Amino acid sequence: MNWISNFVRPKIQALVNKKDVPDNMWQKCPSCDAMLFYRDLKKNLNVCENCEHHLKISVIDRLDTMFNDGNYDIADLPKSATDPLKFKDRKRYADRIKESRNKTGRNDAMVVAHGKIGDHKAVVAAFDFAFMGGSMGAAVGDGILTAARIAVLEQAPLIIIPASGGARMQEGALSLMQMPRTTIAVEQVKEAGLPYIVLLTDPTTGGVSASFAMLGDIHIAEPGAQIGFAGRRVIEETIREQLPEGFQTAEYLQEHGMVDMVVSRHKLRGTFISLFDLLMTPFKHETQKAIEDKSTGSKKSKSKAKAKAKTAEEKPQADVTL
Ligand SMILES: [Zn+2]
Repeated sequence: MNWISNFVRPKIQALVNKKDVPDNMWQKCPSCDAMLFYRDLKKNLNVCENCEHHLKISVIDRLDTMFNDGNYDIADLPKSATDPLKFKDRKRYADRIKESRNKTGRNDAMVVAHGKIGDHKAVVAAFDFAFMGGSMGAAVGDGILTAARIAVLEQAPLIIIPASGGARMQEGALSLMQMPRTTIAVEQVKEAGLPYIVLLTDPTTGGVSASFAMLGDIHIAEPGAQIGFAGRRVIEETIREQLPEGFQTAEYLQEHGMVDMVVSRHKLRGTFISLFDLLMTPFKHETQKAIEDKSTGSKKSKSKAKAKAKTAEEKPQADVTL
């Protein structure tokens, strides 16, 4: 019977357990209920082909589409203290972190990448929503600080991509301290004269939207993204009024001046390249040219004057010889 267990069984198991086929080959669009094949969905950057709804995309898939040829370096982030308050609700915070680490394969909810987008260097700090809802604790704060430092060191623009439910309540006041901390970090990028761009994705809420996410030089949002501080129900119950249709969506915020552009995922890379070309290329306005001409003109006149002086020095000699 050995040949059955040694030869036939492994063959059958190999046929049954094909590892490259995921468990769920189809995904239902949450907006139009269309059944989407995972391969088509991935090819279309997790955007529904039927209704253009932007489904969540993994951090790595997003970074791959942003940088030139998917080439970038991931920065090492500082090891932040895990569970400083020894917090426990239904579960221990230490256990929740361990679960999320096993699920996502990363240390916390932040990935910092740097490389080239078009002709310009760029630093991207992206939230991983799969890691405890992208909530912001000390490790995420450390990640944003690191990204800001790299941007200043490399003289590169900084893009932050929040996908977060807000502050991480398991870290109590320490998570709230990340709000001023990250605010100072992005201010340092601005003080260095570098562009700071926020790409608001679904969802950007709570302490994240109340700090660095609303301080960009330019705010870009993905279509249909939910962006706000408190949830709709909480606000309606507090102010006892019904909120307008589409409240807290990217499009609504664009109409009301909080968001500059709503850009489809397919056009994001092109938009970043255009923005960097505009913002990072040395200023060449007509007045600037005029200033330059003037200064080169004065240099020329200076050199002319020098030449004159030289000839004047030489002239007497010439006179003498003559
Ligand atoms: Zn759809």
